[in-house]
Amino acid sequence: MIRATQADATPQKLITSRKLHTWMDADYVSELQQRVSRLAVELQQTRAQLKLEQQDRIQVELALRECNEQLRQILDSTDAGIAFVDAERRYQFVNRFYEVRFNRSRDSILGKYVWDVIGDNAYAIVKNYIDRALAGKPQSFEFGMTYLNGDYAYLTSCLTPSLNSDQAVIGYYLFVFDSTERRRLELSLQAANAELEQLATLDGLTHVANRRKFDDYLAQEWQRAVRSQQPLSLILFDIDAFKCYNDTYGHPTGDACLIQIAQTVEATVERATDVVARYGGEEFVVVLPNTSLPGAVAIAEQIHQAIRALAIPHESSAVSSIVTISSGIASLVPTATGSPEELVASADRALYAAKQQGRDRYVIDGALEQK
Ligand code: GH3
Ligand code: MG
Ligand code: MG
Repeated sequence: MIRATQADATPQKLITSRKLHTWMDADYVSELQQRVSRLAVELQQTRAQLKLEQQDRIQVELALRECNEQLRQILDSTDAGIAFVDAERRYQFVNRFYEVRFNRSRDSILGKYVWDVIGDNAYAIVKNYIDRALAGKPQSFEFGMTYLNGDYAYLTSCLTPSLNSDQAVIGYYLFVFDSTERRRLELSLQAANAELEQLATLDGLTHVANRRKFDDYLAQEWQRAVRSQQPLSLILFDIDAFKCYNDTYGHPTGDACLIQIAQTVEATVERATDVVARYGGEEFVVVLPNTSLPGAVAIAEQIHQAIRALAIPHESSAVSSIVTISSGIASLVPTATGSPEELVASADRALYAAKQQGRDRYVIDGALEQK
């Protein structure tokens, strides 16, 4: 009888031993064989499954890569800057806009501090906005800056804080677009509006203020004088015998005379707040804010003198051999219960009196003179 010693009892030896059946019966062997073949089948299935999964993963990776590529193309083709800046104020992502506008490679921007990329001057302007964005408050603003190539541009920027799962700010997303063209259009629109506004307030022939401007300005100065309790004066004047002038020299010469007189009076009044306006036809008005009656009289005298000095011939006038005017002067300290029409009516009364008294003179409205 052969006894297996302790040293000989390795599994190989036992399995290959012809004495196998002494401790392992046939049933057990067949069960083992079945189990092995089941495991082999399972292994095959798992392998097939793995292969399928691997193929799926490759598909997903391809789709993801395609998706990323599409996203990159979209971000790069956008004519706007898109970036992610971390809490240390370093660029972690920038799109192509940055490369083009700052004329440097993406790699030379990534990891750099904001001030190193946009320059200290521009950074000084945007610093407060960045501070607030990093404090969790979205920011939107427009600012002007000079690019490295020297071009000046207006940029509209939107900063959106980026939060982690603990709601801590880890940086901000930056969306910036060049609004220079829009700004330029806005400025030219403003200039066009200002010009239109000017045209709308100027008399087309004489280029002094028109009647509309006079009405607005008088109402505005009336209100101001009500508050300040300063005197407001008006000189209303009319060219004498102007119908005869047109009849004698023709309408175009009449127009030239109107222009000359209007411009002369405009040059005579000195204060920036004194406004000369064409009241209608050959009638003009001068608004004199913060001017008392003696001041208004002095200005009326200067106006009469300046027109006489022009010495425009008027041979058919019964008043003088040169063009003359008649004026009505009115002055008052406006009250909240009164109205600008009061002042106009007063000057008109005085003008009528000047005409009645023989023309080529000024008259102060007596009804207001006492006040
Ligand atoms: P008075 O001394 O009383 O003011 O007499 P006048 O002839 O000046 O007054 P009137 O109201 O009879 O005539 C005003 C004239 O002013 C008639 C009109 O043709 C002329 N006139 C009004 N507007 C214009 C204008 O734009 N151009 C020219 N050339 N004449 C004008
Ligand atoms: Mg007249
Ligand atoms: Mg008239």
